[in-house]
Amino acid sequence: MADSSRKAGRLFVVATPIGNLADITYRAVEILTTVDLIAAEDTRHSRKLLQKYTISTPLTAYHEHNEREQTKKLINLLIEGKEVALVSDAGTPLVSDPGYRLVCAAHERNITVTPIPGCCAAIAALSAAGLASDRFVFEGFLPHKKAARLNRLKQLQQESRTLIFYESAHRIEDSLNDAIAVFGRDRVSTLARELTKQHETLLRGTLDQIKQSLAADDNRRKGEFVLLVQGMEPNKRVNAETLRILGLLTAVLPPKQAADVTSKITGQPKNLIYQKGLEHKNK
Ligand code: SAM
Repeated sequence: MADSSRKAGRLFVVATPIGNLADITYRAVEILTTVDLIAAEDTRHSRKLLQKYTISTPLTAYHEHNEREQTKKLINLLIEGKEVALVSDAGTPLVSDPGYRLVCAAHERNITVTPIPGCCAAIAALSAAGLASDRFVFEGFLPHKKAARLNRLKQLQQESRTLIFYESAHRIEDSLNDAIAVFGRDRVSTLARELTKQHETLLRGTLDQIKQSLAADDNRRKGEFVLLVQGMEPNKRVNAETLRILGLLTAVLPPKQAADVTSKITGQPKNLIYQKGLEHKNK
C-alpha cells in the first residue's frame, strides 16, 4: 500500500465549473493560483477560466492523445518537488474525463494526490432530478453504436438503483429510444440539460414524455445532457430462481403456459415473466 506521508510535490485534482464560471470554490482558485503548473485537457478552454480569476499560472496540455508522455513529464516534475493541478474542460477530472493514468502513476510514486472538490454534472443533475438518490449508478457515456448501446442497457434492465448517463446532443434521441426499448416507455426519468447555463432545463416524466418533449422543439435537443432513469421497482424484478424455473418449463411448454406456471410457483407477475421468456428466446 502506498504511504502518502513522505512526498516531494503534490498533485491537486481540481474541479472546475460545468457552465457558469461562478461555480468554482475559493480553494480551487487559491490552488490554481499557487501551483507551479496546471495540466489542462484543453489549454485554450481553461485559459478563459484563468483569465476570469486573473490566474497567471503556466498551462500544459494533458488530454487523451498525449496522456502517456505527459504523465511521465508531470511525474518527473512532481518528483522534483513541483506542485501540479489537473483540470478538465468542465467539472471533475477523471469523471468521463482524462486523468486516471496520471493519478495512478502519482500514487505508485508515493506522491500526494489531493482532490479539490466542486462541480460534477452527474451529481448536480441527481441533486435536482427528483429520483431516488440514496443509491445510484453512474454509467458515463453509453456506447455510440446501437447494438453495443442496447446491450449495455439490457445489462442494466433489472438495476434497482437510479441510473445516470452522460449524453451529447448528437445521440440523445437515439439513446432515449433505446432506453424506451429496454426500460419501457413508462419508466420515470429526468433529463437535465445545460445545467448552470442560460438554457438550463430539467424534464421529469416518463421516458416517453421526455421523448415527446424533445421531438416538439428542436432547441430542446441542443446542448449537454444528463439522463437519469429510475431503477426498476423491486416487485418488477425477475429473480434468478424465477428465470431458472422459466427456463425448465419453456423447454416443455409453450411460452404463455410456461410463464403462467412459473408465476404460480414463484408468485412473480405473469406478464413480466412472459416478457422475460420472450427476451430470452430472442437472444
Ligand atoms: N467531468 C465532467 C463532470 O464532472 O461532470 C464530465 C465531462 S464529460 C466529457 C461531458 C459530459 O458531461 C457532457 O456530454 C454531458 O453529458 C455532461 N455535462 C457536462 N456539463 C454539463 C451541463 N452543464 N449540463 C448537462 N450535462 C453536462
